[in-house]
Amino acid sequence: MLEEVLVDCAACGEPMALDVDTTGGEEQSYFEDCPVCCRPMEIFVRCEPGRVLSISVSAE
Ligand SMILES: [Zn+2]
Repeated sequence: MLEEVLVDCAACGEPMALDVDTTGGEEQSYFEDCPVCCRPMEIFVRCEPGRVLSISVSAE
């Protein structure tokens, strides 16, 4: 189940939409390139199926 979440890029501050797979586990972290500045960010997600509880990003 994918949920769309808006986050601000940790490097350039631009908002971007992420599709989070909420059935992929309670706590997830993965890398995603910002579509604006192309820098990699680490995304930390806490979720339950169908709902994102919290999300944070940190620049590499
Ligand atoms: Zn960026």
